[in-house]
Parts: sequence; C-alpha cells; structure tokens
Amino acid sequence: MSELLHTNGEESVQPRIIFATGNANKMKEIRMILADMGKEILSMKEAGVSVDIVEDGTTFEENAMIKAMAIAKLLPDDIVLADDSGLEIDYLNKEPGIYSARYMGEDTSYDIKNKNLIDRLEGVPKEQRTARFVCAIAAVLPGGSTRTTRGTIEGYIGWEPAGTNGFGYDPIFYVDEYGCSTAQLSPEEKNKVSHRGNALRAMREELRKS
Ligand code: IMP
Repeated sequence: MSELLHTNGEESVQPRIIFATGNANKMKEIRMILADMGKEILSMKEAGVSVDIVEDGTTFEENAMIKAMAIAKLLPDDIVLADDSGLEIDYLNKEPGIYSARYMGEDTSYDIKNKNLIDRLEGVPKEQRTARFVCAIAAVLPGGSTRTTRGTIEGYIGWEPAGTNGFGYDPIFYVDEYGCSTAQLSPEEKNKVSHRGNALRAMREELRKS
C-alpha cells in the first residue's frame, strides 16, 4: 500500500477515492462496491472540484482516462476514478458505442433512441441481435500511475421496450439469464451483473494490489 500513502508534511494521510461523476445513482453503486476498501469515497462535487471535460477519445478507456486525468490534476494526492460506458450492438457495427449518450443528440429522449434502434434491427433474428453494455474505469493514483479496467454484460436487443427501472437503453437490452430487460431488474439485481459493477470490482482488485 505504500505507493498510495502520501504525507501532509507531518503525518501520513490515507488518500481518498474521488469519483469523477455527478450522478447520484452511480455514487451509490460505487460506495456499495468499494465500501470495504476503508477509504473515504467522494464525488467530484463533494470534493469541491468541477471541470469541463471534452471526451474526445476513441475508446471507452481513453474517455475514462481523459476524465480521471483532468480531475487528478486538481487532486494529486487522491485516488481519482472515472468511468465511461455505453451500448454496443453487433449488427450495427457496435453503434452507438462511445457515442451512446450523444446518439441522435443529447436532448433526444431515450423513448425515441430506443425505438430507433429497434427499427434499425427490423427483421433481424435473435442470434444477430447480440449486444453488450461496456464500462471502462480509469484510475490515476497519487504519484501519477494509472490503471484501467473493463466490465461488460452480454445480452441482446429485444423487439419492444420493457420495464421502468434503470435508465438509458435498459428497456431494450435483454439478458437471457434473467429472461427480461435490465429495466425489469431491481437495482440490486442489476448491480450484481452489470458492466459497471464488473468494472468496479476489477478496479477494487487493482487498487488492492497497488
Ligand atoms: P456514461 O458514460 O456512464 O455517462 O454513459 C453513457 C451512456 O451509455 C448513457 O448515457 C446511456 O445512454 C448508456 N448507458 C451506459 N450504461 C448504461 C446502463 O447501465 N443502462 C442503460 N444505458 C446505459
């Protein structure tokens, strides 16, 4: 753990974990998964920082690292984590991918985005409707070393939206294991198998090794 310790001149101080998000649901999930690390976990806002970040990377990992680096510049003594996630639909050459939030425009409702994706798969059989949610998490540690992890959840695009839990593309993303969409799962059920949960658990192991 020595790499993760820093001093304030007098005593050794445990770095905090800062997560670069303003999303309260993500913070809840992150706190649950990283609870046993024994570190204070704060959102960017709680840590008193805000930055305008241009996510111009070409992969989920690059975009997550761009966010983590931008915040780490302001909080060099902390462990800074950031994520980037999205939906890849194989039949559509992995669209919307890293553009998931911007697909059809940021202000377009997910009812419209989801309907559009289902329409683009008209006549496509189930075996070719495979898709996955992907989440990359990037970490910048005190001292500047970096880590990335990736988590996924495999599923397929259904023929109609179902469920009201979750957000974004959840109503059209179906998981065979559950026989329903991820919008029909409780938050606890989804967290256990989700891309973000898997990436966070992998990051927890990376941080333990550091
Ligand atoms: P972000 O990088 O976490 O902000 O996510 C980017 C976009 O990917 C979101 O705005 C959603 O469109 C989509 N997305 C990511 N994770 C999920 C999920 O768990 N369910 C539904 N949509 C998701």
